[in-house]
Amino acid sequence: MYSKNSHFLKTIEKVHQSDGCYRPTKYAVTRWFNILNDVLFSNSLDKFKTVTIKQMKRAWGECRGNDDQSCDLILHNRFNNKSEFIEVLGHEMVHHYQWLFEEDMDHGNTFFAWKKLFNKNNLELSK
Ligand SMILES: [Zn+2]
Repeated sequence: MYSKNSHFLKTIEKVHQSDGCYRPTKYAVTRWFNILNDVLFSNSLDKFKTVTIKQMKRAWGECRGNDDQSCDLILHNRFNNKSEFIEVLGHEMVHHYQWLFEEDMDHGNTFFAWKKLFNKNNLELSK
């Protein structure tokens, strides 16, 4: 029987097996945003208003909230592997969710409330 979740688990299993430097593209960000939004966030997130991929000094990614409720995404241009890219994107999407529905955009309770669901889908959620 087809299930969205088992399909995702197969896909992510393949991703975890792939290794080596991964350089994200805007296309990959859009594709994985749509997948994670569906599987993890019940499609509650709007697309990031802007996506910037560039060399970052002290972080893998950053989510900046705007006054109109939208968020801008900034991502580092190079990850150790594809899993890391997807998990960082998921991390920033939790901040996006916080910006929309919670008081704070931080790594507190409303952040780690997502850990169980991430783990259930074979993804890590860390600071
Ligand atoms: Zn964060």
